[in-house]
Amino acid sequence: MQSRIDMESTCEHEDGSPCHCSAERLLRLSGVIESSYLFAKHSEVEIHHEGDVYRLRVTRNGKLILNK
Ligand SMILES: [Zn+2]
Repeated sequence: MQSRIDMESTCEHEDGSPCHCSAERLLRLSGVIESSYLFAKHSEVEIHHEGDVYRLRVTRNGKLILNK
């Protein structure tokens, strides 16, 4: 199985949005997501799961905490 993923590759998007295709491909193929992708702009992200909102955030110590 080919599992090597080129994280450096980018592509042109018609709407000019930043390219996250490689990160999304990695998640789909491997179930892996880089935290730098989640926390590129914010130190906290919302995860919507079965009608509930969870918050995944980076602590001052650089660890991750998931709160409901
Ligand atoms: Zn792209």
